[in-house]
Amino acid sequence: MRNLILLGAPGVGKGIQAKLLAERLGIPQISTGDILRGAASEGTELGRKARTYMRDGNLVPDEIMMGLIRERLTREDCQGGFILDGFPRTLPQAEGLDRLLDGQFWPQAVVISLEVPDREIIRRLTNRRVCRRCGKDFNLLTNPPPDGCLCPVCGGQIVKREDDMEGTIKARLKVYKDWTRPLKNFYRRKGLLRVVDGGGSSGGVFRRILGQLE
Ligand code: AMP
Repeated sequence: MRNLILLGAPGVGKGIQAKLLAERLGIPQISTGDILRGAASEGTELGRKARTYMRDGNLVPDEIMMGLIRERLTREDCQGGFILDGFPRTLPQAEGLDRLLDGQFWPQAVVISLEVPDREIIRRLTNRRVCRRCGKDFNLLTNPPPDGCLCPVCGGQIVKREDDMEGTIKARLKVYKDWTRPLKNFYRRKGLLRVVDGGGSSGGVFRRILGQLE
């Protein structure tokens, strides 16, 4: 049983690595961004609350995020471990997660910080496209979607994310530096942090992560 937290700026490849790890380790990927986008497209109360923050590249308030993650982690499929992708993003969230994990039988998580230079992040995100229905990632430069703009997995429409515009990407990078990057020290002090180079192919990054988990 294992818990993993993937830290890193938007566009470092947390989502892709979380999916590969979930498959390899047989535990669920929990992407708070995907959960919020799903809620926004369904028009639920959570989605309506989250939408403006997300569109502008700001963080959704901690109380909302803590409620969401508490509910998600206590579901049956998390009892054998889980991979957090995009949570925690602030110190209060990390402290809240600690309290949540303390009260359960889960072991402390291993925290992987993926690192890629800003220039490369902007290049990746301005070229990122996603399936509106299943969330599959594409990239116009490295992994272009097939002709016709329909997802080969589920037939959904392939679109640019609302927050992948250049201005919003810069705002999200600033939010990451101001709020999320300090978590590296929080987890380093606990001895849980592993820093992994997120450059190059996703297969190469995956092997580096597995190397850190051995
Ligand atoms: P992501 O798909 O992880 O890039 O998340 C997309 C957006 O969802 C972020 O820019 C935030 O607006 C929101 N979001 C996702 N996870 C969190 C979180 N842990 N705390 C606050 N906001 C979040």
